Amino acid sequence: MLRGHTSILDQFRRALAAGRLASTFLFVGPPGIGKRLFAQRLAQGMLCERRPEEALDPCGECASCRQVLAGSHPDVQLVAKPADKAFIPVELLIGEKERRMREGLCYNISLKPYSGRRKVAIIDDADYFNKEGANCLLKTLEEPPPKSILILIGASEQRQLPTIRSRCQIVRFAPLAERDVAAILVEQGICTDPAAAQSAARMSGGSAGRAAQWCDEALVEFRGALLGVLSQREFDHGEAAKLVSQFVESAGKESAAKRARLRLVVSLAEEFYRAMLLVLTGIASDEDDSALSGALKTAQRWFPGDDSATACLEICLDAYAHIEANANQATLIDWWLDELAAAARAGRVAI
Ligand SMILES: [Zn+2]
Repeated sequence: MLRGHTSILDQFRRALAAGRLASTFLFVGPPGIGKRLFAQRLAQGMLCERRPEEALDPCGECASCRQVLAGSHPDVQLVAKPADKAFIPVELLIGEKERRMREGLCYNISLKPYSGRRKVAIIDDADYFNKEGANCLLKTLEEPPPKSILILIGASEQRQLPTIRSRCQIVRFAPLAERDVAAILVEQGICTDPAAAQSAARMSGGSAGRAAQWCDEALVEFRGALLGVLSQREFDHGEAAKLVSQFVESAGKESAAKRARLRLVVSLAEEFYRAMLLVLTGIASDEDDSALSGALKTAQRWFPGDDSATACLEICLDAYAHIEANANQATLIDWWLDELAAAARAGRVAI
C-alpha cells in the first residue's frame, strides 16, 4: 500500500473523475519520500483491469497490475539517470544515433496505447537533463500525444529549466510523517524491530530512504567514526583517509556503487557541517541523534566560527561535483579531507 501523500492522490482522483487530468507533471520534493513509487502506483491505478481508473486503487493482482510492478508493462516506461552518468543520456529519450526518433521514451509515448487506455512515461532524476536531452523532451511536452501522461520527478522546481517547468503541472510532495516512515521500514522488512524503526524514522526528516540508512548497522557505525574524526581539531589524516576508503571499498567492485557510497560519506559530513552552522548561530542540535550531538559538542570547543562551517560545506558541495565527474577516488578522498582540515582550522579555504 502507498503511505502518505493522500491529498495528492485525492487530487488525481478528482481530476480523473472529472476527465480533466493534465498530461504533463513535474513531481518535486526531497529524495526518499516516495515520489517515484507514487508515479508507479498512479500508472498501476490507471491501467488496472479490475478497478475503475478514477479509483486509483489498483488490485495488484491482474495481469496489468503485475506487469506495472515488474516494470514490463508495454504502456509504462521509466527512465532514470544511470548511476555512472552525469546526465540522462539522450539515447534513452530519442534512441541511438542510427535509430533516432524510432525508439526511446519520446518515441514510445507517441505510440498508441497497447492496452487501449493510456501511455505513462516516468522520468526520474529530471534534475539531470543536459541541453540536448531537454530539447528533445520539450517537443513532447509541447504536444503531448493523446492518452499520454508524462511524469518528471525531481528534487526541486528550481533545478528545472524554465521551459520545462512552465509546461508541466507541478505537484509538490512533502516529507512523510514519522509513523508512515516507521511503517514502511517494517512493511518492507528493512527493520524488523518496531521500536528501532520508530527511532530511525525520527531521524529521517520524513524520508524513508534516509530512515533505511539508519537501519544499516555498518553505516551507523561508520558515521559514528567519521563524526568522531571530523569533530577533532587535529585529526590523523592517514587514519581518516583509511577509514573513508575502507568504507567506500566495502560497497563492492562496481565503480558506480563506490561513487554512490562516497557521495553518502560526503553527505554525512555535509550534514555535520550544516548542524555545526546552526549550533554556531545559536540553534540547538537534534537531541535524538546522539552521535551527531556528541560530535557537535566536541567540535564546538574549538570550531573557529560560522565562516569555517560554511567553507567546509562548500568543500563538500565541490566534492559531489568531483564525484560526478569521476575523479580518482583516492586522490579525491585525500583532497577532500585536506581541504576540510584546512578550512576548519583557518576559517577560509585557499584553493
Ligand atoms: Zn489490477
